[in-house]
Amino acid sequence: MSGITNADAAARARAVIPGGVNSPVRAFGSVGGTPLSIVSARGPRVTDVTGREYVDLVASWGPALLGHAHPEVVAAVQEAASRGLSFGASTPGETDLAELVVDRLTVAGTAGIEKLRLVSTGTEATMTAIRVARGATGRDVVIKFAGHYHGHSDGLLAESGSGVATLGLPGSAGVPADIAGLTLVLPYNDREAVLAAFDAHPGRIAAIIAEAAGANAGVLVPGPGFNRFLVETAHAHGALFILDEVLTGFRVAPAGWWGLEQAAGETWIADLVTFGKVIGGGMPLAGIAGRAELLDLLAPLGPVYQAGTLSGNPLAVAAGLATLRLADAAVYERVDAAASVVSDALGVALADAGVAHTISHAGSLFSVAFRDGAVRDYADARDQESWRYPAFFHAMLDAGVSLPPSVFEAWFLTAAHDDAALDSILSALPAAARAAADATPPA
Ligand code: PLP
Repeated sequence: MSGITNADAAARARAVIPGGVNSPVRAFGSVGGTPLSIVSARGPRVTDVTGREYVDLVASWGPALLGHAHPEVVAAVQEAASRGLSFGASTPGETDLAELVVDRLTVAGTAGIEKLRLVSTGTEATMTAIRVARGATGRDVVIKFAGHYHGHSDGLLAESGSGVATLGLPGSAGVPADIAGLTLVLPYNDREAVLAAFDAHPGRIAAIIAEAAGANAGVLVPGPGFNRFLVETAHAHGALFILDEVLTGFRVAPAGWWGLEQAAGETWIADLVTFGKVIGGGMPLAGIAGRAELLDLLAPLGPVYQAGTLSGNPLAVAAGLATLRLADAAVYERVDAAASVVSDALGVALADAGVAHTISHAGSLFSVAFRDGAVRDYADARDQESWRYPAFFHAMLDAGVSLPPSVFEAWFLTAAHDDAALDSILSALPAAARAAADATPPA
């Protein structure tokens, strides 16, 4: 191609962009080496500045459920662009999308999800959900779980997994102690800790926020009935339950992780649900959904203020609508099947190489931890031989497979991962597992 290498692109970027990246995990901080500079993506593959293709297991960190640049999604965006990029006014497409989401998340005979407010990022969605919960309850304190990531707003960064875990930071500089102090961080899957928090702060807790299934410290699966317990406990104490489906929503099933629990016989309903990633089909779009009485607390109807110049952007809405309309049962079956093939082969390769490992699954999402034994919470996730991952990651990359550049991230399959793409992954795994076996801990 142009003769430019990934190293050239990274060096040029570092001169004018902090760390050369616009989101920290892209810098390859925890795996070392030169980050990829991507110029295009199609189906299950991405192409870097040198013209080299990789089978992609990042999927833009989730949104690319159908694979990259699905022709019908691209056509929908092009058609929308031909009518204008942004109007600063309402559009019929926003209502189409809200109707579609409400329809997917409504259980007959219940008042669960009645309204949706669109924003541009998952961070805004969770930040707004918390503001609504505080506005609704008149209380300040929020419970979150260690290892759960809800975006980078001040109150939600504490022990948040994802990029913060990758960098080994406890939280973030620049967050005032008074704000961090309004967030109680509890161990995941620990019912006693939740009950004790409500006992210790009577009448002060506005909400519990939890990832529907954790996927930002590797996959942290909620124990049986844990989400129901959170809803019931919150309600018993006059607090709300915010279900963060930014990552799992529309990715693990048509109605997200909540839909999987419903299919398994659960009947609980969250007060507020946040979406992102797949809802925008690769464009900046996210949302907060919930009962009308809660969503109507938002301006202009209610006293809780929230706004956005580009909220409900028509191109993003077009991408989201096209993606969700295409995401039928067959799509989820293909993603599930591809995830099983890859996670099974990963387990076999690591076992053959004699590497201690645990693979955790939440629907089609899975992650590997280099340890024996279940990973139930953030402490378990950190208690692993994570130093094996860089060698594993780079062996896969050298073989043309792009994994998430952190052991604390889930692997994302798409409906476009066909046999050829899966074969590339499967043939790369044994050597990568041997590289993990040969890795040595840092001195
Ligand atoms: N919530 C969850 C569960 C996430 O995984 C993420 C991002 O990874 C967010 C919120 C924040 O979303 P965004 O990166 O769009 O701000």
